[in-house]
Amino acid sequence: MFAEVVVDVPAAKAAKPFHYGIPDRLRGSVRVGSAVVVPFGGRRLVGYVVGFVDTPDVAKVKHILEVASEVSPLPQGMMALATWMTARYLCRPAEAIAQMFPAAVRQRKASVKTQALIELAVSSEEARAFVTEAEKRAPRQAEVVRALLERGSSVMEGDASGLLRRTCPDAVRALIRKGILASKKVEVMRSPFTDAQAAPPQAGRPPLHLTPDQDRAVSAITAAFDQRSPRPILLHGVTASGKTEVYMRAIEAALARGRSAIVLVPEIALTPQLAGGFRERFGRAVALLHSRLSAGERYDEWRRAERGDARIVVGARSAVFAPVGNLGLVVVDEEHENSYKQEESPRYHAREVACERARVAGCPCVLGSATPSVESFYRARAGEYDYIALTTRVEMRPMPAMDIVDMREELAHGNRSIFSRALARAIRERLARREQVILFLNRRGHSTFVLCRECGHAMRCPECDVALTYHAEEGTLRCHYCNHEEALPDTCPKCGSSYIKYFGAGTEKIEREVMRAFPQARVVRMDLDTTRTKRAHETIVSKFRGGEHDILVGTQMVAKGHDFPRVTLVGVVSADTCLNLPDFKAGERTFQLMTQVAGRAGRGDRPGLVIIQTYAPDHYAVQHARDHDYVGFYEEEIRARQDLLYPPFVHLVLLVVSGEDPGAVERYAASLGASLRVAARSLDPPPHPAPSGAAGVRVLGPSPCAMKRVRRLYRWQILLKGHPLESADEAVRRGLDTCPAPPRGIVVQVDVDPESVL
Ligand SMILES: [Zn+2]
Ligand SMILES: [Zn+2]
Repeated sequence: MFAEVVVDVPAAKAAKPFHYGIPDRLRGSVRVGSAVVVPFGGRRLVGYVVGFVDTPDVAKVKHILEVASEVSPLPQGMMALATWMTARYLCRPAEAIAQMFPAAVRQRKASVKTQALIELAVSSEEARAFVTEAEKRAPRQAEVVRALLERGSSVMEGDASGLLRRTCPDAVRALIRKGILASKKVEVMRSPFTDAQAAPPQAGRPPLHLTPDQDRAVSAITAAFDQRSPRPILLHGVTASGKTEVYMRAIEAALARGRSAIVLVPEIALTPQLAGGFRERFGRAVALLHSRLSAGERYDEWRRAERGDARIVVGARSAVFAPVGNLGLVVVDEEHENSYKQEESPRYHAREVACERARVAGCPCVLGSATPSVESFYRARAGEYDYIALTTRVEMRPMPAMDIVDMREELAHGNRSIFSRALARAIRERLARREQVILFLNRRGHSTFVLCRECGHAMRCPECDVALTYHAEEGTLRCHYCNHEEALPDTCPKCGSSYIKYFGAGTEKIEREVMRAFPQARVVRMDLDTTRTKRAHETIVSKFRGGEHDILVGTQMVAKGHDFPRVTLVGVVSADTCLNLPDFKAGERTFQLMTQVAGRAGRGDRPGLVIIQTYAPDHYAVQHARDHDYVGFYEEEIRARQDLLYPPFVHLVLLVVSGEDPGAVERYAASLGASLRVAARSLDPPPHPAPSGAAGVRVLGPSPCAMKRVRRLYRWQILLKGHPLESADEAVRRGLDTCPAPPRGIVVQVDVDPESVL
């Protein structure tokens, strides 16, 4: 018998397994799904066993060196999930399987932390007899044994009780020599919970009463437990409608049936309240998995889940692979968030993997959001997902009022500042009343677009309807989807104004402007730059909540589920930076952000006001966000997607060519583009044309990426639109096969269904 082992090496041949012999000493422990260490090209690499063969395909077969004995082999269901991922995301099998082990195993640094446990090695009667007999002769030894008898016969070395510190270590050693005590190594768990989060070991807190909406939602989810293959459930609840309570009730029901649950949250560091809430409710049954834990903490939490000590795993994207057995429920909170998409290979989407994992386990997957992704809502409408709506807020709080300010009129009235008169007035009022303000700006500007400040016209690609990106050194505008190029106009093509400018103010600039305009206000900024260090984010949040600042200026980070009861005004400085992202999802992102940001206003007793500044007040995303009308937004968005052939009507595959030499990158992108076009034409037409008429594969580009230089690497991209997915995949496979291999220093990345194309 020889093992088939896949190894994660960046070579095309690594798609198929290599054959290795199994030394006698490992014969019992090498199984399908085992992580092993193998010799490979003079190195020792971690590989994964995917099967066995009787005869190896090489004459001189090498042998497996070690088995990662501290973790169990992957169960069959997880191996099936890895196979599914390999096909879905065009990644290598070893990359997919590796995701399912903790990083400590992948890096061969798996470490179990142990401590010595001292325990009685004799029966209690014998121990008591020893105490009586030794009382006079060896009082310290007698004291140790008596203490152990009183405390249930064992104690950790270094226990806080100080038993072993009080008595003489020599006494313990003597007792071990005599065989009355024994010392053994036991594993201790590192806990990711800080003392503040430490919870009682048992679940607590009396249940609150539910709104009728919540009650219906819980019933619908628990009803799905009894179905053989339940569909995913889209839980569409307006902000502050109490989705978390629905998740918790559903989890309680799953636990009551002896099953376990996985809860995915977008970025756990940004949602400490949610993690804390689960811990409070379910105690030590919760394991927490996210990237800010130390490797040791992560590993221990993973093991607690694997052993069944923790039956609920709460975590970010990668927690979808948590090793829980008897899975009964998967929850994806804020399912529309793009942090669920992994931006390095394998480029999987955790929402999709969650649905697939639930399908394999035969359990429901609940996708929760106030602003569902267009794809998920489309699937719900098509009947692929069940749909539950939560339409009322808890405690019947009203939705915040939203005002849209037309920035074109501000200019017409001679106001050139970044604050409209309405927003400036509202900020002053809040400061006078000692209430708090959040000023929101979409991400730090990394691509610039061109906009007319007089009429609001933004320069977009005539073919792709994405914003054109301004390239300063050439003075041109380019579509980074199809490579359409035009000169930067001197005057607005729509109204003739010369106030046509490239755009993109960062949070730092806004912070400076705020300080200048409101010198009496205490201002704090929250974005990637100010939250690099561990806990920086929590510190800003807690200080702001505690009233140490009046105004919080931030990126989308501030839009996440925080509850700030004293915030009564949220200002969106420019909706345009989001509307004009060079991405087909710009409209969807704008609607989501406006809605999430608005959810931050007026969560306490005082009513909230949201002011949105924009040069495009009539844009449907802005209008429907103001009206809290998701369905209205969706219907316009889905029509545009269908007209322009974007997902969910086609699949996108993004190929990014990158390298340090700009000429070589451009040349290779051109030759890859040509191969892909030939491959797309060579495909058989699909048997059933798509309803949208989108059958077949279109190749766009190559064109420079919107972020065309990242960390010294120049980037060009090629975008494929295809339907069905298999035909797009096939075109990519054939294109990559027929194109000459990339020259040294040039890398090609493949991203199936990219979450953003930037
Ligand atoms: Zn104009
Ligand atoms: Zn274009």
